[in-house]
Amino acid sequence: MTRPNLDAFLTQCQQITGPAGVLSAEADMASYLRDWTGQYQGSAIAVLRPRSTDEVAQLVRLCVEAGIAVVPQGGRTGLAGGGVPLDGRSVVLSLERMNAIRTVDTDARTMTLEAGVILETAQNAALEQGLVFPLTFGAKGSCTIGGALATNAGGSNVVRYGTTRELCVGIEAVMPDGSVISALHGLRKDNTGYDLRHLLIGAEGTLGIITAAVFKLAPAPKVRVAGFLALEDLAHAPSLLNRMQDRTGGAVEAFEYMPKPMIAAIQRAFPDVRAPLDTLPETGIFFEVASSRDADAAEAEGGGSRLEEDVLGLLEALMEEGALPDAMIAQTEQQRLDLWHLRESALEGVMHNGPAYFTDISLPLNKIAPFVAEMDQAVAEMGFATLTVGHLGDGNLHYTLSAAEGQDWESLPLAKAKALIFDRLQAAGGSFSAEHGIGQSKLDLMRQLKTPAQLEAMRAVKRALDPENLMNPAKLIPMDQS
Ligand SMILES: Cc1cc2nc3c(=O)[nH]c(=O)nc-3n(C[C@H](O)[C@H](O)[C@H](O)COP(=O)(O)OP(=O)(O)OC[C@H]3O[C@@H](n4cnc5c(N)ncnc54)[C@H](O)[C@@H]3O)c2cc1C
Repeated sequence: MTRPNLDAFLTQCQQITGPAGVLSAEADMASYLRDWTGQYQGSAIAVLRPRSTDEVAQLVRLCVEAGIAVVPQGGRTGLAGGGVPLDGRSVVLSLERMNAIRTVDTDARTMTLEAGVILETAQNAALEQGLVFPLTFGAKGSCTIGGALATNAGGSNVVRYGTTRELCVGIEAVMPDGSVISALHGLRKDNTGYDLRHLLIGAEGTLGIITAAVFKLAPAPKVRVAGFLALEDLAHAPSLLNRMQDRTGGAVEAFEYMPKPMIAAIQRAFPDVRAPLDTLPETGIFFEVASSRDADAAEAEGGGSRLEEDVLGLLEALMEEGALPDAMIAQTEQQRLDLWHLRESALEGVMHNGPAYFTDISLPLNKIAPFVAEMDQAVAEMGFATLTVGHLGDGNLHYTLSAAEGQDWESLPLAKAKALIFDRLQAAGGSFSAEHGIGQSKLDLMRQLKTPAQLEAMRAVKRALDPENLMNPAKLIPMDQS
């Protein structure tokens, strides 16, 4: 684009958004051009910051006319490089100024949020109404609702409430031609043709820009019981989870795998983080159960809640069976928050530890223990150590390779280890991208591991809705057939 054309384009953008809505100076754009990991750095013509759905639609139409690609952006906490513009020929469209909580409907128990609302803000607003916005994970203080929808984020409560997709009951979006789809009805039942909501969720901004959405809210728990378990064997985890669900009436909110090396790495990064047990277990599980029932919150004979008594009864039985060498239950709210802090510091623990290869895989629950056992041994023989953490209740592992003590990361056979991991994952019927999305980082895996029929169906959808390939190009789906 020539300089006069570019200036004219930016002036038109400003006419739509007002002067504060267009950033084009290098220093102003800098923070929008890199992500949380620091791994992805891009460049762009400008950063556009609309305040309304109508402004988004006008900007998209302007970009289409000018043949300029649009990279939607939320809080830049995505871990796959999806929100970072690639080549300086696109604009970043940040939803940060669309951050209104439009409505909280306490009868329907739903909440309508603009895309730029920060996840933690949504959680707090629901709590003020005595309800829970169930989605939660470590980036809650910075990530946005739009980013969570676009990546179909998961997190620690999926075992009970489902992923972002399952929480969303209505969507508003600007499509690649600038038209607006508004389906903020909040209906639980609506079988009127293709559900465009589900196309847009998880599309990582490649099929349009999500501007608002309606979410289901859950009753606020009256009692929570959190604790940490040392398991004899990871293979016992699925039956332990099921027994905990049976004992508590399906009240498990978090069931997170935290083995010893992971906790040790977190403690190296954050020396103030307290170990949950005196001896760190090889196979640790952080769990939380919660209930909104008065009967569960009522005081039991031992002084704790009935829910706590139920959990204690189960843990005692497991100890007698020899499946559970050690366990603790948080006795104060601070101890419970400390356990959550430990879990939510995992990614920063990995980053602090040094160079690493981070995966986001999922497996059928009964395949996890054999997979971890086989991989841990195989990669150790190659000189790697593992720093794994996972939303075990959902079969989701962040199986992470780092250099074993005394090894030089650069000289380790990473390509060989990756090939083995994804080969075994495929054989076990797993997924190479469970919750973080594809972005830029997993395009090669899309090419290798999705079938030609799957890839072609996705390309057909993309071509039909975005024929000029202007919505977040070169992300999520490899458009070439090589
Ligand atoms: C410490 C930490 C912990 C994390 N833990 C988890 C976890 O447990 N589970 C999990 O699932 N993720 C986790 N993540 C990843 C990340 O937080 C999520 O992917 C989050 O949903 C991204 O939101 P964001 O607003 O930062 O999006 P961004 O990073 O800005 O964008 C992510 C993608 O969404 C697209 N996008 C953003 N907004 C829109 C919109 N309005 N319309 C269309 N497309 C849009 C972007 O183009 C990009 O492709 C974690 C990240 C960090 C840093």
